[in-house]
Amino acid sequence: MDQICITNLRFFARHGVFDFEREKGQYFVLSARLETDTRAAGMSDRLQESTSYAEVAEFLVDFLTQNTYQLLEAAAEQACRALLLRFPRIWGVELELKKPDAPIDLEFESVSVRIRRSWHTAYVALGSNLGDKEGYLRSALAGLEGDACIRLKRVSTLIATAPYGGVEQDDFLNGVCRLETLYTPEELLQVLHRLEGQAGRERKVRWGPRTLDLDILLYDNIIMYTKELTIPHADMHRRDFVLRPMAEIAPYVEHPVFHKSMLQLWQELEGTWS
Ligand code: ATP
Ligand code: CA
Ligand code: CA
Repeated sequence: MDQICITNLRFFARHGVFDFEREKGQYFVLSARLETDTRAAGMSDRLQESTSYAEVAEFLVDFLTQNTYQLLEAAAEQACRALLLRFPRIWGVELELKKPDAPIDLEFESVSVRIRRSWHTAYVALGSNLGDKEGYLRSALAGLEGDACIRLKRVSTLIATAPYGGVEQDDFLNGVCRLETLYTPEELLQVLHRLEGQAGRERKVRWGPRTLDLDILLYDNIIMYTKELTIPHADMHRRDFVLRPMAEIAPYVEHPVFHKSMLQLWQELEGTWS
């Protein structure tokens, strides 16, 4: 992606672990690479099509002087988050925060923390087969939308489907959505679990009746397998109620393990039935 860079912006602030650092303050130096698409601004020569580096520089300095952190890690983390929330055209940022006068009794030029943070694209499956199913799915979507670190981009048609996994129970209402988020996969899962809890979900039988089930299907192109999380969702390629809505809102998105599009996986699954 294109970049807009700000290099060695100097400002006075009070971050540090020691009391004297907070009382006296010191100079910090910040550099940022903003990842954004500059094509429209490049072709039109209009600032409205871009992000003003002056505004970004002022925003970062204001943020880092109005808030105080012990660690450069925290200062950099929160500054990146605030920046990505404030400037919607910036997809990612690499930020380096230097402390040239850090309290070390040795000769050195500076110490710094450098991190890259960005939005991520995730697909989430929604399902309910107990009570006011549509109501539960709609409040889950509203819950996602209401979270500042999540931008809900697209929601599929909600479809009624027969239950899965051989437990006797009511039909499901299913759908999928695409969202952009600043959360890691683990943090996103926590948000989903919280929303399930708010819908009064109880965990009893696996694949049993539930007011709300929210699963992460895809998260960027990552492939991960931990105790908590399998991404892509381990069973998505075998589920009509996932692939059908995915084929609607993301037909050409590729499954990072099978290297097949959602549409193709759905067609292949349909084929195994007929
Ligand atoms: P299935 O995962 O087969 O759809 P389920 O949704 O009914 O079954 P749950 O009881 O809702 O299963 O979840 C059990 C655990 O699965 C969760 O606590 C979570 O740690 C784990 N899990 C693993 N991968 C994922 C994922 N991609 N999305 C959501 N949860 C996941
Ligand atoms: Ca599930
Ligand atoms: Ca689940």
